[in-house]
Amino acid sequence: MKYNIFRITNVQFMQKRYFKKVQARVRFAPSPTGLLHLGSLRTALYNYLFARANNGTFILRIEDTDQSRCIPDAIEKIQSDLLWCGIIPDEDPIRGGPAGPYIQSKRLEIYKEQVLKLIDNQSAYYCFCSDHRLDLLRREAIKSRQVPKYDNKCRHLSSDEVKAKLNKGDPFCIRFKLSIGKESFNDLIYGKMEHDIAQREGDPVIIKTDGYPTYHFANVVDDHLMEISHVLRGIEWQVSTPKHIMMYKAFNWTPPLYGHLPLILNSDGSKLSKRQNDINIESFRKDGIFPLAVLNYVIHAGGGFDNKGGAHYIHISSNKLSPPKLLEFNRIEIAKLLANEKNNKFLIERIIKLVTEAFPNRETNGSLHLDENHIISVLKWAQNRITKLNDLVSSKLHFLWIMPTTALNDAHLEYLDTLKIISTKLDETEIQNFNKEWINNYLKEFAKEHGISYPTLMKVLRFVLSDLKDGPPVAEMIEILGKDSTLLRIKRCIS
Ligand code: GLU
Repeated sequence: MKYNIFRITNVQFMQKRYFKKVQARVRFAPSPTGLLHLGSLRTALYNYLFARANNGTFILRIEDTDQSRCIPDAIEKIQSDLLWCGIIPDEDPIRGGPAGPYIQSKRLEIYKEQVLKLIDNQSAYYCFCSDHRLDLLRREAIKSRQVPKYDNKCRHLSSDEVKAKLNKGDPFCIRFKLSIGKESFNDLIYGKMEHDIAQREGDPVIIKTDGYPTYHFANVVDDHLMEISHVLRGIEWQVSTPKHIMMYKAFNWTPPLYGHLPLILNSDGSKLSKRQNDINIESFRKDGIFPLAVLNYVIHAGGGFDNKGGAHYIHISSNKLSPPKLLEFNRIEIAKLLANEKNNKFLIERIIKLVTEAFPNRETNGSLHLDENHIISVLKWAQNRITKLNDLVSSKLHFLWIMPTTALNDAHLEYLDTLKIISTKLDETEIQNFNKEWINNYLKEFAKEHGISYPTLMKVLRFVLSDLKDGPPVAEMIEILGKDSTLLRIKRCIS
């Protein structure tokens, strides 16, 4: 597979080229119900680039109002994955900011205060319907083949009835009165959109019985109070936007501009699923993929932007991921890092960590081949064979780091004398000759002189050096292992 390096978009380039200057305060608002994955990363990235390109502000807000779906450590992991990708918020739960707190569960008082405004102006109302009643409604609708929706019963309670129920301490939630008719808005990416929400749904709950707001309400209140100018979010929220705009109207607030991002799809056209581990940023990190490769992968998942400028030029066709591109981008990252000696220390540390973790039992007895020169020459040798650092500890390349342990079998034992001669010769060889050309010539000559078949000799040597039946050419293995390590391995077998 060949890609033209010059076509590889780099993030700064996109940032300059594709966004017009506007006053921007944008946010990425994940729910901590899972890890950061390619889809959510793209939303974060586009918001971040939009802010950076406009000297704007990028906010990270955690939407954890559905506590039952939150998973432990998700907030920390999302933040750490964003940081790893170089997407650094200007305001977030850790560093705070003027519009904090930035975690919704810490803003409950704010929602309670705001919802009273909607109750006062009769855009929202207390609902006392029991779960049992709602369940019956649902069942009846299903029986008569209708889409279940709340019948807005409590909209019609008199204020005395409401007072009496509140005084009695009846449990309640608060619902928002949907207006009848179509609500339209101009999507920055999709153009004019229209939805008649009330036809599809009953009045939605905005404060739940437990006092927590629902997503829709908290989202609107926070976008307003945090002075968000542009909401760039996944297409799955587009149907909710008219509802959000109705809430803005009810508050008498000006809504932000909305742009919905088309779905990213798997290469086979299927939707990304939360259960797919290979789309989590964490899995790329663990796999030895570099951040810029992941970012380029996401940007290259089809269309995205064209070059006329402005978020309204995001392509709306769905975007397919191309896993081979990810590997190609990563290979280029490795090559870029290796091209500058200043990165050696960083690469060496990464490899030491990788190898010691891959061979946990070998670490203590010092048998890992991990000196710095070896690591760098391995990387240089391997850069055209690997696409990610973790490939360096795949079984085919174990020999780079550990001494083989398998004993010679009968077929090999015949060659003990041969090995002895080769070992002596290599021992005498000047270090400057210790390269694959010289070694190859020597081994060819040796085979001829001693009447041994060359392939057989290679087989034996490969086994002695690596335990492998097939693998890289033997002369290359010897070169990359270096003189000391090669001799050590041959001598282990001789003795
Ligand atoms: N919490 C929502 C999510 O996780 C955010 C939707 C939005 O950006 O408004 O997708």
